[in-house]
Amino acid sequence: MTHRFTELHDALQGVDGISFADDFRFVDVTTLHLGGRPAGAVRCATTDALATAVARADSLNLPLLVVGGGSNLVVADGDLPLVAVVADCPDIDIDADSGLLRADAGAVWDDVVSASIDAGLGGIECLSGIPGSAGATPVQNVGAYGVEIADVLTRVLLLERATGAVDWVPASSLDLGYRTSNLKHTGRGVVLAIELQLRTDGSSAPLRFGELARRLGVTADDTGARGTVRHPSPLVREAVLELRRGKGMVHDPADHDTWSAGSFFTNPIVADTDVAGVRAAVSRLHGVDVADAMPCYPAGEGCSKLSAAWLIERAGFVRGHPGPEAPARLSTRHTLALTNRGRATTADLVALAREVRAGVWDAFGVTLHPEPVWVGVDIDG
Ligand SMILES: Cc1cc2nc3c(=O)[nH]c(=O)nc-3n(C[C@H](O)[C@H](O)[C@H](O)COP(=O)(O)OP(=O)(O)OC[C@H]3O[C@@H](n4cnc5c(N)ncnc54)[C@H](O)[C@@H]3O)c2cc1C
Repeated sequence: MTHRFTELHDALQGVDGISFADDFRFVDVTTLHLGGRPAGAVRCATTDALATAVARADSLNLPLLVVGGGSNLVVADGDLPLVAVVADCPDIDIDADSGLLRADAGAVWDDVVSASIDAGLGGIECLSGIPGSAGATPVQNVGAYGVEIADVLTRVLLLERATGAVDWVPASSLDLGYRTSNLKHTGRGVVLAIELQLRTDGSSAPLRFGELARRLGVTADDTGARGTVRHPSPLVREAVLELRRGKGMVHDPADHDTWSAGSFFTNPIVADTDVAGVRAAVSRLHGVDVADAMPCYPAGEGCSKLSAAWLIERAGFVRGHPGPEAPARLSTRHTLALTNRGRATTADLVALAREVRAGVWDAFGVTLHPEPVWVGVDIDG
């Protein structure tokens, strides 16, 4: 591997925008502050450099991981047989008249949101405070407070790794779904830049999320799926950031409750026909009133979405589980975030993830699926 990285190193010598990071460790770049050392790391300051680095590594058959902000990664401890290709290209370009925004893959996502609001545009304020890079937003179709990047994404500049072609492709070709796309777990391509169509009247996306709407004084009747009410974007951004900070969902290196990958498990989607069985299991443990109150939302034909956090709590896991001495714990502010308290290893975190998943399965027969991308390690062992 080291020998093949030397070949890549040689092939990329002198390419504009490329630099090599000999001291790169995942523990320094992931928001979990976990993970070992790759065989090599290449930093790419332009989209051309990013495309070139990935294409050359692919031509040498080198395993690689594209890294943005490291906020959705669970990386194994120790030495990893792969090359980290880091998207450091930061440009953001906004046309305030048309509402079109383009951001390079390496632009910090929250800077994109903030710049769009400063330019008087609306539509992504509910996605304020999500860590990571612009290029990663389509990968799992990031979403929060009733808005997803799919709502505003028009197209992405994509390097198709199978062919080496670089082209703008429409968002509709990415199969964007709930915390997923055909870029996640597939190695299909690398997003070099994204393009968004935003609102030019400075008003927010419709407020669909009850907690946010209440914070802004909007009545519940005007929210929900049809969401009719919009607010000025800057006010919505402030409210979202306040709510997120309260839950430890804005990354802050000084606060161990935020040393996480955000929500660790996706909300489980189950067949409608299985919901009654889950409710019965909840009822056996907690009584019929609790079972009747179980959150359950339509999720496409024949399917329902349950709440991972609710199930984790009803399975007996409290905030801060398993206790103050543990190196990896549930956040003390949010049961859906698994956190590193400062001296955890990835092995500690994985053990906690397995314990929570097994607890929910034993209590309710529901399988939780991790939301982050796992590298060199697997929840199934
Ligand atoms: C405190 C906290 C709160 C969070 N809240 C939310 C939330 O509300 N909603 C939400 O959806 N997510 C949330 N997340 C998860 C995470 O922030 C997002 O998934 C984010 O988009 C990941 O971006 P990144 O640049 O850090 O990606 P990385 O962690 O660097 O990479 C994640 C995956 O994307 C791939 N990738 C990265 N860049 C590219 C690219 N340019 N092209 C192709 N593949 C790429 C990587 O190879 C990897 O597979 C949260 C995380 C944290 C730590």
